[in-house]
Amino acid sequence: MGTKGREMVGEHADRIIELLNKAYADEWLAYYQYWIGAKVVEGPMKDAVMAELLEHAADELRHADLLTTRIIQLGGTPVLSPKEWYSFTNCGYDPPEDPYIVPVVDQNIKGEQCAITTYHKMMQETRDIDPITYNLALQIVSDEVEHEEDLQSLKEDFKKILK
Ligand code: FE
Ligand code: FE
Ligand code: MG
Repeated sequence: MGTKGREMVGEHADRIIELLNKAYADEWLAYYQYWIGAKVVEGPMKDAVMAELLEHAADELRHADLLTTRIIQLGGTPVLSPKEWYSFTNCGYDPPEDPYIVPVVDQNIKGEQCAITTYHKMMQETRDIDPITYNLALQIVSDEVEHEEDLQSLKEDFKKILK
């Protein structure tokens, strides 16, 4: 976005860029957590879990793309180095050390719940100052709500199969 577009957010640009960069770090970590989870996951229904994890990984990478586009529009610099992801992240990273389907899905549910909180807060903070970022957060949080639901319904299926 050019100068007029940036004028719309005025003095709030730095704060909005900070929020976007924090979410951007979250998305890369979420992407990797899903991606590596899909590689190592074990147990009954492994194939169904793997397919869901890979689908979500692709969504998280798409979210990172959307966020970086907005950061650049606002005149900011997206986090340039993976080692900075840990200092920016809101939601952190859980390595799938226990590859069994249940802990892997639980770790990702926790991540989705944190993502929902993060984007909900981003919406509250940008509602009156940056409708474009507000709309972006709304778009992303809709996916995160779907992700949480998908993983929780996988867990319901585990209960049926594991009893
Ligand atoms: Fe995401
Ligand atoms: Fe997600
Ligand atoms: Mg899904």
